[in-house]
Amino acid sequence: MAISKILIANRGEIALRIHRAAHEMGIKTVAVHSTADNDAMHVRLADEAVCIGPPPAAESYLNIPAIISAAEISGADAIHPGYGFLSENARFAEIVESHNLIWIGPKPEHIRTMGDKVEAKRTAGALGLPLVPGSAGGVSEFAEARRIAAEIGYPVIVKAASGGGGRGMKVVPSEDRLESLMGQARSEAKAAFGDDTVYIEKYLGNPRHIEFQVFGDGNDHAIHLGERDCSLQRRHQKVLEEAPSPVITPEERARMGGIVAKAMADMGYRGAGTIEFLWEDGQFYFIEMNTRLQVEHPVTEAITGLDLVREQIRIADGHPLTLRQQDVTFRGHSIECRINAEDPQNFAPSPGLVSSYHAPGGLHVRVDSGLYSGYRIPPYYDSMIAKLIVWGHTREGAIRRLRRALEEFVIEGVKTTIPLHQALLEDPEFQAGDYSIKWLEEWLAKQQ
Ligand code: ADP
Repeated sequence: MAISKILIANRGEIALRIHRAAHEMGIKTVAVHSTADNDAMHVRLADEAVCIGPPPAAESYLNIPAIISAAEISGADAIHPGYGFLSENARFAEIVESHNLIWIGPKPEHIRTMGDKVEAKRTAGALGLPLVPGSAGGVSEFAEARRIAAEIGYPVIVKAASGGGGRGMKVVPSEDRLESLMGQARSEAKAAFGDDTVYIEKYLGNPRHIEFQVFGDGNDHAIHLGERDCSLQRRHQKVLEEAPSPVITPEERARMGGIVAKAMADMGYRGAGTIEFLWEDGQFYFIEMNTRLQVEHPVTEAITGLDLVREQIRIADGHPLTLRQQDVTFRGHSIECRINAEDPQNFAPSPGLVSSYHAPGGLHVRVDSGLYSGYRIPPYYDSMIAKLIVWGHTREGAIRRLRRALEEFVIEGVKTTIPLHQALLEDPEFQAGDYSIKWLEEWLAKQQ
């Protein structure tokens, strides 16, 4: 192994997750952190820690010169970006590589292509993936937008080419709203991403969000690790994920998985990636590809037995893929709950002192979290404070285990979304696996 010390350019549970994989491989870790995270668990556990700036992410976790300096000072030989922050910043990946550091991630050109959703769709189409009907590229003129929307039929969705996290998207029900909603999408996109390019897609009525985990060796080998169902969303943000999807048959998994793995092999893709689809009436429609580890990767780990972060590190280090496709097997069912420090009724952020903390345990229960009693959740970052992941032989078994684990979970001092997950589990439609991407918002409206 050429890698002996990894700088973790992230915070929270994912920084801890990367630290754990590294230490199990005998690799040392360097935490970088803002002044708001002096007491964070990953900072305490890492072999070394370097403070890289004040609380605002732009001055710390997104501060490229400070992160590169920290790598040089500490003698790290690789950087793992986690998810969010700089993980999908192609320029950062290039800078890392130009400093003779190993970038634990895909090739910068693939990050760049997939980061532009218009380019990503074009590439996916060329690789043979089925697309959501829509504009062939970016749309700048209203007249063109009107023509395309009329062709594909309303409702349509206007999306930001540089979009992410559900921002810069507008659903347009009819032509009379197109001009104003397109204008709003463009100004939102400009403000959030510095790029006002938008494109148009058919707005699917009631799809599920189903994504495939892929791994490539950077040459011409790639495998898929099955799908995750991430349809339970609020404001286009995932709340609970599961693998496998309750609606995908083994034959469909093998067929679609084969298509995505071949696409990645043809591309020469390196490392971990996720290909996201909407799924409606048995059809898959590509929406985007994420060139990084996903928040919900543990459900894939639970059903395949593979450590995805270890695999990322091995590939970055030049090793071949651990498994061939025929060696990948899927066992049982896994569910993840994202637990946020938020009011479970109105979702207002609830940062502050965690006066008491006790994580659930027991067979097939995993908690990824940097929380501890006495920790103060800073108000500056994402509100996700823990992920609870369970495994069961069957989906019903996983739900029963999740109910038991949520019952044991104690987080006091701040409000959390644990009660929301508890209520969700009791819903017969959830229990039947009968939900689409719209289901959770409708369910939430009924709970009021
Ligand atoms: P982001 O990168 O901002 O997360 P995505 O393209 O991944 O954007 O879309 C996020 C979510 O928005 C999807 O999971 C889905 O719920 C919804 N969505 C996106 N495109 C469509 C579409 N064409 N029809 C219906 N819903 C969509």
